[in-house]
Amino acid sequence: MRRLSFLGKMKMNRPTILTGDRTTGPLHIGHYAGSLANRLRYQDSHELFLLLADTQALTDNAHAPEKVRRSVIEVALDYLAVGIDPNRTTICLQSHLPPLAELSMLYLNFVTVARLERNPTIKDEIRARGFGRDIPAGFLCYPAAQAADITAFKATIVPVGEDQTALIEQTNEIVRRINATAGKTILPEAQAVIPQFGRLPGVDGKAKMSKSSGNAIALSASPEAISAAVKAMFTDLTHLRIEDPGQVEGNVVFACLDAFDEDPATLEEMKAQYQRGGLGDGRIKRRLDDILQALIGPIRTRRAELAEDHAYVLDVIRSGTEKARSRTEVTKREVVEGLGLFVL
Ligand code: ATP
Ligand code: MG
Repeated sequence: MRRLSFLGKMKMNRPTILTGDRTTGPLHIGHYAGSLANRLRYQDSHELFLLLADTQALTDNAHAPEKVRRSVIEVALDYLAVGIDPNRTTICLQSHLPPLAELSMLYLNFVTVARLERNPTIKDEIRARGFGRDIPAGFLCYPAAQAADITAFKATIVPVGEDQTALIEQTNEIVRRINATAGKTILPEAQAVIPQFGRLPGVDGKAKMSKSSGNAIALSASPEAISAAVKAMFTDLTHLRIEDPGQVEGNVVFACLDAFDEDPATLEEMKAQYQRGGLGDGRIKRRLDDILQALIGPIRTRRAELAEDHAYVLDVIRSGTEKARSRTEVTKREVVEGLGLFVL
């Protein structure tokens, strides 16, 4: 009995992490290296909430609600297939958590349009999406919505890519304003944790593998699709013959081997040989193909089994969302009351 309650206490004191993914398509090997592998480790040491961010996905996908809807199950399947355990980790659906939307509306009054426009992450993303002057208002304001997501769970740790730290800074500015207005600390500040692994480039050689760019290898890819993607992978345009010296920098095959090859000594030897000349693209691609087939194979099998059990997947999302709803409802109340607003 005693032991159990001690364990219960330990569980309660674990730091809270909020993270998640926009539901814009199935997850890819970049997600595995950059975020999923870490999340698997966090499951024991932290209280982990994974947000299926369908509302955020809409901020630049309002023309494709069907894709956003379909991807909710795709992303949930990917989570479960890689080993996210719904008994330890809460998987929840953003659009079905009203406190997140309510807090977003409140927070929008604690941030200026000028500040949103100055956010470096948003500036880069607006440029990358070619919005010009036609920026969806939801997109410009998503940092306030993200502040709502983070604070509603009272998450103190938020794993983000290097390019996204400005979003956490903006969250903390809102937190400080809310706390100052309330005259007490209602919300904790969050810390951005940048994963050691940087960013996996796209198979086309672009800086980032991404769901929306058509340059990804999905965790659900068929053996043939994996081989075709590896075969077409960008290597080094000047490495024409096997005996030519080749570049490792900017070579997508080596970037993927860096991420997934578990034999670093052999990999270093291969890099040296490639740079000297004498190692063909065919050999490095075969090695990567084998490694990716071994990584993705079991995930694909598990995913296919889970996809057969639609009711189970729905149940995981439903019960996680319910748990998240009560948790975030408490925070919303604390904010409303803390600010001294009318409560019926
Ligand atoms: P979209 O094209 O819809 O923006 P995406 O592929 O960029 O999708 P996101 O859902 O925006 O994926 O990314 C969620 C998180 O996944 C990022 O914060 C980052 O931690 C991780 N991630 C995404 N792509 C990569 C990548 N290529 N390499 C490493 N990590 C990645
Ligand atoms: Mg993205």
